[in-house]
Amino acid sequence: MTRRGVAVLVVAVLAIPVIALVFVWWTPTCERAFLPFAPDRSCVIAVTDDTDFFQFESTAPIYALIDSLGLRVTKTVWAFDHEDHPPTRAGLSLDDAEYREWVLGEAALGHEIVLHSATAGHDKREVTVEAHRLLEGLVEAKPRMVIFHSTNREAFYWGAHRLPNPVLRRLYGLRTGPRSFDGADPESPYYWVDVSRRLVRYVRGYTTNDVNTLAVNPSMPYEDPWAPASPLWCASSNGRVASDFVSLLRAPNVERLKEEQGASVVYTHLASGFTEEMSTGGARVTRPVRETLVRCGTDPAVEFAPAGDVLDRLRLAQFLEDAVASADPCGGRVTLAIPPELVPAMDGVSVVPSRLPARLAAPAGVGDASVSLEVWLDAVGWKVTPGEVSVFDRARRIPLRERLGLVFRWLAMSLRSPVYAYESGRVGG
Ligand SMILES: [Zn+2]
Repeated sequence: MTRRGVAVLVVAVLAIPVIALVFVWWTPTCERAFLPFAPDRSCVIAVTDDTDFFQFESTAPIYALIDSLGLRVTKTVWAFDHEDHPPTRAGLSLDDAEYREWVLGEAALGHEIVLHSATAGHDKREVTVEAHRLLEGLVEAKPRMVIFHSTNREAFYWGAHRLPNPVLRRLYGLRTGPRSFDGADPESPYYWVDVSRRLVRYVRGYTTNDVNTLAVNPSMPYEDPWAPASPLWCASSNGRVASDFVSLLRAPNVERLKEEQGASVVYTHLASGFTEEMSTGGARVTRPVRETLVRCGTDPAVEFAPAGDVLDRLRLAQFLEDAVASADPCGGRVTLAIPPELVPAMDGVSVVPSRLPARLAAPAGVGDASVSLEVWLDAVGWKVTPGEVSVFDRARRIPLRERLGLVFRWLAMSLRSPVYAYESGRVGG
C-alpha cells in the first residue's frame, strides 16, 4: 500500500469512533405534545438532595430559604444510623428524634421524602426492606423512588456496572478504586433488586452536565433491558455540590431549559457548600446559591416539583402518547384506563394540541400554546378512568443509542469532576 493509502486508512479508522460518538451524542430536537408541567409554566426543575453530611447547623438554613420561596424538592434520608458511619460525621438519620420531626415537618410542606439507601453504610436485604417499610409508615405513603448512596454495596447496576463494556468497567474501577455493588447478585446478603419494584417506582441512574435531563434522556422513566427486575430509571443533571448547582442553574441554562420546554432532574447535596459559617455564629446561605434560588424560584415560568411528581407526569405522558398512537383514525370516543397511582399526576401535565395528529389537535384556535390535560381531554371527547394496570406495565424501554449517549455523557461528567470522596468527608455521593 502506498504512503497515501496508509494515511487514508489511518484517518478512516480514527474517524469511525469519532463519528460513532457524535452520532450517540447528538440529541435530536423533540417537540413533545404532552409536557410535564402546567400550561402556565415553561419548564420544571426537580431537585434531588442526597442527604450526606446533613446537620441542622449547616443544612437547615438552605431548607429555610427553599421553604420561604415555596419550592418543593425531593429530600433523601437515611432510616437508621450505621455503626461505621456515625451521624455526627455522615449526617443525621431518622434514628434522631429531633431530625425525624423536622423531616416530617418538611414533608408536610410538600417535599418528597425518599431513602438514600437505608443507612450511610452497607445494608443487608432485610435492613433495606425494613427501612422502606419504616419510611412508608412515617410519611404515610409509599416512597416513589430510591437514590443510591455512592458507596453502598446494596446498590444495583451501580458504579462501574453502569458501563456496557468490561474494558470501560476496568478503567472506571482504576479511577474510583475497587467497589462492589451487589444489590442484583442473588448470592449476596445485599441482594434486593427482586423486591425493589414492590418498594419503589423509580431509581436515579446516569448523571450528565446538560441542564435539560429530559433532552438527553427522552425515554425517562425508562425500563433498562440491561438492568432486569429493577424499577424504572431516570437520568439526572449534575449539581453535585453548591458550585456545580450554581453553574448548572445559571441564567442562560435556565433560559434554554424554558425554550426547550424541558425538565431538569438535579442531582445535588444541599449539605455540601450551600451555606457558610457566620462570624457571629450559625450559618447562612451563600450569596451565589441565594441568588440562583431566588432567580429561579421567583420566575413564574419555572416550576420546582419533587422528582417523583415529575416522573409520574412523564410516565403519564408516555401512556397518553401510546393512546394517541393507537387511537382509531376515524375518531370517536375513547375511554382511557390510567394506572390509579398516576391519576394525581393529571393536574401536572399539559398538552400542545398543534403537535398532535389533526383529528386530535383540539381545541382549535390555541395555535402553538398549551392547554391543561383536562381541557384537551374534554375537547377530543376522551374519558379517563382509573385502570387496573401498574405503572410498570408496558414501560418504555430505553433505545440503545440513547443509553450509549447517557453512558458517554456520564463518563465525561465523571472525568471532569473530582473522584467521589465520601470517605474523606469532602463530597458526598
Ligand atoms: Zn450519598
